Amino acid sequence: MQTTSTQALDRLLAGNRRFAAGETRYGQISRRARSELLAGQQPLAILFGCVDSRVSPTAIFDVDPGEVLIIRTAGQVLDDAVIASIEFGVDVLDIPLIVVLGHTHCGAVTAAAQPIDAAPLPGKLGGLVDAIRPAVEQARQADSRQTEEEVIARAIGLNVQLSMQNLLDSPVIAAAVAAERVSIVGVVYDLATGAVSEVGANEVTTSERA
Ligand SMILES: [Zn+2]
Repeated sequence: MQTTSTQALDRLLAGNRRFAAGETRYGQISRRARSELLAGQQPLAILFGCVDSRVSPTAIFDVDPGEVLIIRTAGQVLDDAVIASIEFGVDVLDIPLIVVLGHTHCGAVTAAAQPIDAAPLPGKLGGLVDAIRPAVEQARQADSRQTEEEVIARAIGLNVQLSMQNLLDSPVIAAAVAAERVSIVGVVYDLATGAVSEVGANEVTTSERA
């Protein structure tokens, strides 16, 4: 039976609770499982997250190889290759859930909070950081009494929501969402606790909330 977005999210959140509690069960692959995977893949979720080496998507959701399709860029900023990879997951593999995975202490978001006239960043980094700036601006406007640390923490959640919104610029993804073939949920992973918390969802409920 096809996994629903709710079942997929439930499974990931249960895995994250095991991970945060230091009770992981999955992530290893036996020779038998490897040969079973030769038949093909049917992942339950697409994880689109930041490249930060401290965030290990398969570990934090306690899943096995074959269960999640992972795409990562700094600050989970989208480009055409990212969108195409997610469209592949949604349209070709029929994956029912997209999780946008931000994290606390994100260097990309922190860089986007630096003054715009600071020393220019090398290569294509400037453009990447510019893509995150709207989230930082929105965070700054939310409350004038915030410390810089609070602005960045708020911007991290808003940047996840920005990535979620930008996914809908893809007509393929937008159509799949409209047809309820896929749901998008945003989470922030806390480096300190190991737990994820939801910062936005597009028509998906966990069975716990329902
Ligand atoms: Zn990051």
